[in-house]
Amino acid sequence: MALGIYIHAPFCRTRCSFCAFYLRIHREDQAHTYVDAVKREIRLYAGRASLGEHRPDTLYFGGGTPTTLRPEQLADLVAIVRDCFGLAERAEVTVEAHPDSVTEEGLQTLRQAGVNRISFGVQSMDEEELIQVGRKTSRAALDRAVAHARTAGFANLNLDLIYGLPGQTPASWRETLAQALALVPDHLSCYALTVEDKTHLQVSLHRGDLPEPDQDVQNAMEDEAASLLTASGFQRYEISNYCRPGHACRHNLLYWQGGEYLGLGPSAQSYLNGCRFGNVEDLTAYQDRLAAGEPAVLQSEQLSPAQQRREALVFGLRLIEGISLDGASEDSVDQRDQTLQRLRQKGLVELEEGRVRLTALGRRFADQVAVELL
Ligand code: SF4
Repeated sequence: MALGIYIHAPFCRTRCSFCAFYLRIHREDQAHTYVDAVKREIRLYAGRASLGEHRPDTLYFGGGTPTTLRPEQLADLVAIVRDCFGLAERAEVTVEAHPDSVTEEGLQTLRQAGVNRISFGVQSMDEEELIQVGRKTSRAALDRAVAHARTAGFANLNLDLIYGLPGQTPASWRETLAQALALVPDHLSCYALTVEDKTHLQVSLHRGDLPEPDQDVQNAMEDEAASLLTASGFQRYEISNYCRPGHACRHNLLYWQGGEYLGLGPSAQSYLNGCRFGNVEDLTAYQDRLAAGEPAVLQSEQLSPAQQRREALVFGLRLIEGISLDGASEDSVDQRDQTLQRLRQKGLVELEEGRVRLTALGRRFADQVAVELL
């Protein structure tokens, strides 16, 4: 079974108003200490029998904004993962990047280190919409970043977009999609804005400073993305993800196909040998634990075989092709099938030739479907 490694870089230059990820505003001294702690964590896990003979097939730097770290720091971490775990020969190595925090030389350093997939957080092409959510960037910076990435040799480039932003209209979303396509990406992620607890966005909405997101408008924007991107040669392979043929994100597929992954860095989550575990969501505590030679795990849960199957079903349903219903033990089939039949009667899933997949309506209510199946 394939193994993925995720490294959480908990730094950004500023915090976007909708963001609930664990992160701090970047400081060079803190970044330096953090990188040392991640190196310790890599070495700690590399010596563990629990990883068996796994050679990671994917390595993914997410955050936060990994490119707030210096390119040499990221290259160093790739090299240590390679030394300690022996990355597979054709491993997919992704770095999430903010267009403002990359340079041509830096991208070349990453490419030479073996990074072969770059994912730019764009969110919108409309600068007014970005200002509304506390992001400072310009269209010119994005154009430069994409051009530098291509010059550096990145043949696998993703753009992250968000729909349902305050002030965004169907017309401005169409324009964002059109401008994104003009940059000729290999992959596009289109996420619906969600209002997370304790975010600045939530406070602004409660105060009435911004209009509440309109679900019907968001649904129309999702449909617009699906039709425009598929008409432009992209395959929708997951609820929020589109790729040119052969460019699906292998790391994210691991999550949706029940694969195993090891998460490193504060707040990173792992799934290994049927056990879900997560690191402490605090940079100082994370570093202290590793300095003491201990894993930074805060909580863990060993899933029963039935729980593992239910989770595999829920994650697999995010894929447009759905998931095969093979592999369930007899004792769980009745209950699962009753739930699926109920969901089918509501028009939320369709069953065909031993596979189950969400319908277009089901994709809108994927979270509720998950609750019923878990
Ligand atoms: S750049 Fe990304 S990780 Fe950083 S605050 Fe904004 S959304 Fe969150």
